[in-house]
Amino acid sequence: MRELNVIRKRGKPETVKVALAYPSTYEVAVSSLAYQMLYYYINSWREYIAERFNTENLRGQHPLPISIETGTPMKKFDMIVFSVHYEPDYVNILRLLLAAEIPPYAADRKGKPIVIAGGPAVVSNPEPMAKFLDVAVIGEIETTMPIILENFLESRDNPQDFLDSLSPAQGFYIPARGTEEKVKMSYAPKLEKRFHPTAQIQPLDREPAWGRGTLVEVSRGCFRGCAFCLEGHIFSYYRERPLKDIVEIAVEGSLFNQTKRIITVSLSFFDHSKAKEILGQLIDEGLEVSIPSLRAETLDEEALQLIYEAGQRSITIAPETASRELALKLRKIVPEDKVLEVGRKARKVGFRSLKLYFMIGIPGETIQDVEAIAAYVEKISAETGFKGTSQLKITISPLVPKPHTPLERASMEDLATIRRKIQLIKRRLAGKAEVREYDPRWAKIQAIISRGGRELAETLLAWAKAGAGLGGWRKAVKQTELQEKKYISGEVDTTTWSFIVLPLKPSILRT
Ligand code: SF4
Repeated sequence: MRELNVIRKRGKPETVKVALAYPSTYEVAVSSLAYQMLYYYINSWREYIAERFNTENLRGQHPLPISIETGTPMKKFDMIVFSVHYEPDYVNILRLLLAAEIPPYAADRKGKPIVIAGGPAVVSNPEPMAKFLDVAVIGEIETTMPIILENFLESRDNPQDFLDSLSPAQGFYIPARGTEEKVKMSYAPKLEKRFHPTAQIQPLDREPAWGRGTLVEVSRGCFRGCAFCLEGHIFSYYRERPLKDIVEIAVEGSLFNQTKRIITVSLSFFDHSKAKEILGQLIDEGLEVSIPSLRAETLDEEALQLIYEAGQRSITIAPETASRELALKLRKIVPEDKVLEVGRKARKVGFRSLKLYFMIGIPGETIQDVEAIAAYVEKISAETGFKGTSQLKITISPLVPKPHTPLERASMEDLATIRRKIQLIKRRLAGKAEVREYDPRWAKIQAIISRGGRELAETLLAWAKAGAGLGGWRKAVKQTELQEKKYISGEVDTTTWSFIVLPLKPSILRT
């Protein structure tokens, strides 16, 4: 495979080898800024070498995992670090370990190698993976990775000493110690430039999930606290990267990465207090900018004009629901007149398409509320002029209740009802808009894993052995007699994750 900016270090016998693994495809892995940050940060330590792994396939038997850089088998590494962003990807962690002939249960490995995982899914509830992990990182890279690397050097011959050195007050959960101690989420007080890579892995023969470009994190976190949003609750501490750093990373990155395209990373781009200046300066530098995350109320005509000048031709907004009552339950109110105004202005500016995200299965939702989504889309189409499947694109996702959110106890709607609701919207909007859905079967699996405990370990392992996928899940559920209903009903046990402590109130740090 041809890539730019690969690091190939020649280590000494004492150099610590880290297998940096993303439990999904190469295309998804390379689009993750966290994964790129870890790669360059670990390799910046003289005493360490990090080589990358990802899954070769998502179903069936996994081949022997070998590193991208040197073809070294995973088993030869001292430490395996998984960066995981999606609960169903846990199965791929186990598939990789099994294929590498590394015992999946931590108790059978005795710290050789040490297996570590981090990312939003693990932060919110590490318990389903507790029996497999030596360390679950409840914190951000900037504050936790230096401690891991420092402490491992001091006790690499004694894995137990290493584990004992990691404290819950610093954001480390050691599952073998149980859940008696509270584990405090560890945040970076500010977004330091030294952790953000400018040169990034760029595949030359394969297309990353977000397309080729330099990933640039503009801000981290969100202070709005929508009731369903996991990231908004884990990262309720909002921080901005300074304008100067953003522009420098983008300009240097475009040279190293041989692409003019900048892909911004944030939960809501225009929340940045200097968002328009950032865009203006990047445009002046001759760069193209992609902004995947937009909130309708932050978009005025000037903002839309800048986004267009930066080369983006589509606008994405997430009204979530067409019912005011349900919007209140979600704690996310996106006024209809604001969406119409943005749509009209976007059309005038020249955007080619409008994408809208909706959610179904919200507690208390009726069929009329679902019909209202179709009517809402028809109205937007009529009043803005975005028409037909090429100009108006709708995505419908079933609500997946997540730990640490106000909806953590909510029941998930049954599959048959969700399917009926999706079909209703699809029928009403046939030919008027392209309607896509997040498969409700995967939403259900996601909900079960999100709110499960240690007892899910056997099911996850059976799922991995059955080759993952939906068929593999069904087999694993049957084989381990998992009572799925317990996890998708409102009787879910929230004490499973209550030892993870997040900040109580959203807060903001501007630069
Ligand atoms: S505004 Fe977006 S990112 Fe912020 S909490 Fe709401 S859904 Fe999450």
